[in-house]
Amino acid sequence: MNILIVGAGFSGAVIAECLTRSSKHQVTVIESRSHLGGNCHTQRDLETGIMLHTYGPHIFNTDNLEVWQYISRFCEMMPYTNRVKTVYENEVYSFPINLHTINQFFKKNLNPESAREFLKKLADATIDMPENFEQQALKFVGPELYHAFLYGYTKKQWGCEPSELPASILKRLPVRFNYNDNYYSTKYQGIPKNGYTPIFEQMFDRENIKVLLNTKFNAGEIDADFDHIFYTGPIDELFHYRFGRLGYRTVFFNRFDVAGDHQGNAVINYADVDVPYTRVHEHKHFTPWESHDRSVYFEEFSKETTEMDVPYYPKRLSHDMDLLKLYQIEASKVKRYTMLGRLATYRYMDMHHVIGEALRAAEEFELNHT
Ligand code: UDP
Repeated sequence: MNILIVGAGFSGAVIAECLTRSSKHQVTVIESRSHLGGNCHTQRDLETGIMLHTYGPHIFNTDNLEVWQYISRFCEMMPYTNRVKTVYENEVYSFPINLHTINQFFKKNLNPESAREFLKKLADATIDMPENFEQQALKFVGPELYHAFLYGYTKKQWGCEPSELPASILKRLPVRFNYNDNYYSTKYQGIPKNGYTPIFEQMFDRENIKVLLNTKFNAGEIDADFDHIFYTGPIDELFHYRFGRLGYRTVFFNRFDVAGDHQGNAVINYADVDVPYTRVHEHKHFTPWESHDRSVYFEEFSKETTEMDVPYYPKRLSHDMDLLKLYQIEASKVKRYTMLGRLATYRYMDMHHVIGEALRAAEEFELNHT
């Protein structure tokens, strides 16, 4: 079959790689940007040689062994544990909230059991089924920790009150009653030794894959030439924003070049609402197996996405979800299309979710087309 893949991020790469293991299909990939890998793209900084995560930090982590083994076929995955600090009112705390954070914040020396009891007293027991981010936070950590570590950061990242956001966003973060400060609770975690870009180069490197960079997809112009289309771009863009634009947050960075070590850690969050950036990342700490005298760090800011920006986080506010339904109805009418990934399904997805779903989609496609 003659297959078109729109987008050269993880969804597109997995589909291309899976469907070209035999010579049964011919795959064309079109990508509007000048590089592979979507927001996972990495490149070595020309001045310092440091591996930069162009669109912000990407730490691979998953509980899914199949996904872990799959990605590990295309890179040497180096062991890496994401340990994030957060600054609130000029004091540095351990994060996500754990026993260290609780003891430091409340100036106590609680053990796991007594910390659990202590937080239980602070937490709002009247909230049974949390309906939004704020209620989820108040139910589990109470107002003091919520206002210190979650409220300001979330308001800056999402540009709205946390009470407008779904509880599911906060469920991404654990609250721990021990000193485990690993940002993730997943079984497998790492960063590819040479960054993410070589993974994509390998995945797309097949005789029956043709990749066209700097090529914008215009539905209706070329899709008639293909038997099937895997679309991984924004769903609203596919239908020319007919019902309006879905809300996304985007991020932008201020770059700083310095000698030595700026902050001693890869990521430090800034919880205060009056510090304009959400976090600072210093990329040489993502490759602790390398050594660099100089350093590059970025302050990360969050804002609404305009036509010119790269969409990052789907906001999924209630009016977005109403719009999404309209677009999904349109998408269900175009039978030759499979919608895949964060932008086409308008969901908050990590790399491992994207890869897992693309592996299933490729399998399903092969089953239906044998
Ligand atoms: N969050 C927060 N304080 C922090 C870090 C995260 O309140 O210091 C909130 C924020 O709303 C964020 C959510 O927790 O969207 C989930 O965090 P995660 O790190 O998973 O977000 P990511 O940047 O990976 O999408």
